[in-house]
Amino acid sequence: MTPAAPVSVGTVAVTVCSNGTGGYEFDAVAAAVRAALDHLGGLARFVHPGQTVLLKPNLFSARAPDEAVTTHPSLVRALVRLCRECGAARVWIGDSPAGHHEEEQLWAITGMAEVAAQESAELKSFTGEIVPTACGPTFLPVPAWFREVDVFISVPKLKTHLLTTLTCAMKNVFGMVAGQAKAMCHRRFSSPQAMSSFLVDVYSALRPHLTVVDAIVALEGQGPANGNPRPLGLVLASADGVAADMVCARLLGLNFTQVPMLRCAVAQRVGATPGELRTVGDGVPVLSRARLRPSSARYLQAIPEPLFHWVIRFVSCRPRFDYDICNGCGICMGTCPQKAIPRDPDSRRPGKISAGLCILCMCCVESCPRHAISVRSPLDFWNALRDGLKIGPRKGPGKKGMGGGEGTCQGRGR
Ligand code: SF4
Ligand code: SF4
Repeated sequence: MTPAAPVSVGTVAVTVCSNGTGGYEFDAVAAAVRAALDHLGGLARFVHPGQTVLLKPNLFSARAPDEAVTTHPSLVRALVRLCRECGAARVWIGDSPAGHHEEEQLWAITGMAEVAAQESAELKSFTGEIVPTACGPTFLPVPAWFREVDVFISVPKLKTHLLTTLTCAMKNVFGMVAGQAKAMCHRRFSSPQAMSSFLVDVYSALRPHLTVVDAIVALEGQGPANGNPRPLGLVLASADGVAADMVCARLLGLNFTQVPMLRCAVAQRVGATPGELRTVGDGVPVLSRARLRPSSARYLQAIPEPLFHWVIRFVSCRPRFDYDICNGCGICMGTCPQKAIPRDPDSRRPGKISAGLCILCMCCVESCPRHAISVRSPLDFWNALRDGLKIGPRKGPGKKGMGGGEGTCQGRGR
């Protein structure tokens, strides 16, 4: 890959997607993306005529765009168009979820197949030739076609995460590792601290030239799979994923020291330091008034690393199966890096997860094609009570209701 044009270290553009509905009308999204990139000097600083561009959305699993679990196709489509305007010869779209997924189904349900067809982009498979690529202390399988990419643009969804607090710019890069190998990484780096440090290594090794964050509707609460969509109406862009994540952490009411991944990145001088952070754009005022609800399992990060595996045997925040939905396909059992999910000999469906083996990596949740696995936390009762009594930050709208709420651009009469 060729190096990107220099932009100010630590600059994060934050723009408002002013469609007035919290939705993803294409023209409004395209305008917000263009405005964000203009603050960085325009996309032409990154993409030059004749180049091959990879857009890497977060395609967590085969989930519809309105579930706010995956990057919305409108934003990806806007970027494809802008890349074409800059003269890109080829625009590729690719991501690889952790579990076993049919790629055709993944692309169709997440809306990427439609974007590719509309905009003559190419969907890239992660099932072909792979190349071992050095990532920190190990080598990871990355698709061979990645070597042909001139410009790597990461397009994450802003989501909360049970273990890493936040999944956005840096963690999105982990999706470049082909399929099941990601589950094995969870086995090797099995505490929040170890995983966070490893994710910084992966980000450093495969560092994108540009990150454009879909925070038009974020996911709060029990992300990355079971949270609540929360309209924020924001697009963020930065040449530095660390800086982008620091700004996103603010939306959770956190500073970088409270997010292990950011602590590691700052300690290792991988991206901008907090002192170098600079936010620009009409969305900046929203950063101080919008608050995403973090995962109620965030307390797991406070467990000292040497005690983590011992303590989590006793926590009840563990994946649970909805047997009304589960069809016994077995994908979760095959995906689990710890082989912690037995098959019930009678029903052929997943049995009780072994607390002694489970490392709370959430790969099973990610892998289930029927969304039959969710995670509950001991704090869920308190959260439900607080939401009912309207104490503290209000819960976002449910998966079916995507209207504005307190702390959103809509709710503030933007
Ligand atoms: S929980 Fe999901 S992945 Fe696991 S067996 Fe049931 S349907 Fe398949
Ligand atoms: S059962 Fe536990 S260790 Fe296995 S995939 Fe699920 S969360 Fe990870």
